Amino acid sequence: MSVSNGLEKVIIIGSGPAGYTAALYAARANLNPLMIDGGVGVGQSMQGAGGQLTITTEVENYPGFPNGIMGPELMMQMREQVARFGTRFVEDLVTKVDFSERPFKIWVEDTVYTAQVVIVATGAAAKWLGIDAEKPIWEGGLGGVGVSACATCDGALPLFRNKELLVVGGGDTAIEEAHYLTHFASKVTIVHRRDSLRASKIMQQRAFENPKIAFAWNSAVVDIKDPNAKRVTSAVLQNTITGELTEQECAGVFIAIGHRPNSDLFKGQLDMDENGYLKAHRDVRTSVPGVFVCGDVQDHEYRQAITAAGSGCMAAIQAERLLALEGDLILPMSDLPWQ
Ligand code: NDP
Repeated sequence: MSVSNGLEKVIIIGSGPAGYTAALYAARANLNPLMIDGGVGVGQSMQGAGGQLTITTEVENYPGFPNGIMGPELMMQMREQVARFGTRFVEDLVTKVDFSERPFKIWVEDTVYTAQVVIVATGAAAKWLGIDAEKPIWEGGLGGVGVSACATCDGALPLFRNKELLVVGGGDTAIEEAHYLTHFASKVTIVHRRDSLRASKIMQQRAFENPKIAFAWNSAVVDIKDPNAKRVTSAVLQNTITGELTEQECAGVFIAIGHRPNSDLFKGQLDMDENGYLKAHRDVRTSVPGVFVCGDVQDHEYRQAITAAGSGCMAAIQAERLLALEGDLILPMSDLPWQ
């Protein structure tokens, strides 16, 4: 085991909009933050540095970019901005944490880092069906050019205007996304693997009453065409009872089968709900004093870049307040405020 260079004031785990904003505020408060950014990522659900925005295309709802900005570009700009104020990076994944006492310990393989304050910003990942067509376009799929896991992010793009779209899933997210998409699409078909929805009754009613929403019951999307054309032209549906295959024309497929918070690392260390989302107080405290949390790993409700960034700012301000209170000391957790 190797030990990194001394005690850090603040370590930020994760590097999406929440982590970068936390780093920006912490760096400008002279806390000299160290960010462990998630590394290169593996596959579609493990996005690595930059998080979920690195697998979207155009972001039109982040304030300050009247003409929109590509997701990966926005993340690169955030990274440049925090580097300019002195944030240091470890380009890797955290493999273990110990938050049982201060200073907190964070491992990257065999190297252990120690910190007075930790900001958790590990985000969440959309669940995917696992078919090739979901891969990003540079890997031969249709991700980013018609296949998306976020209607709020991508639904208003011109390629979906007045076109027929599919939404996969039967929960509240699927209904909400379908409803949102009806503002742009000519028709939205919800493809669900069973014959009844999981969504809350009020959301179901909303969907049933919307004349632009149709349903494909007992159906699974097993393929999406046409990667050769680099756009979505149809989806192949399989009846989950009879196995029958049908093809449905559409210009986009939105996968809304749930998200998974990236919180496995914190099991047994931080309180989380039954779905793995970290429990956070309104002021971004976790169950461990001195560990703050921001972004999608604690938010299953809003899940937007801007709300993640806002909570990242709050986490850094809380870190600054705590460190100012301690001065040169490292108080035991029992002596920290906010018990
Ligand atoms: P859920 O887990 O509630 O629903 C996921 C849906 O996707 C289910 O219908 C499930 O089918 C289906 N599904 C899961 N895996 C697959 C798969 N591999 N292939 C096909 N279908 C699949 O996730 P949501 O994101 O919808 O909601 C998460 C939480 O957020 C919930 O608590 C929800 O209430 C909340 N929420 C609230 C909103 C609101 O109040 N406005 C809006 C959005 C979310 P099956 O039913 O067969 O399991």
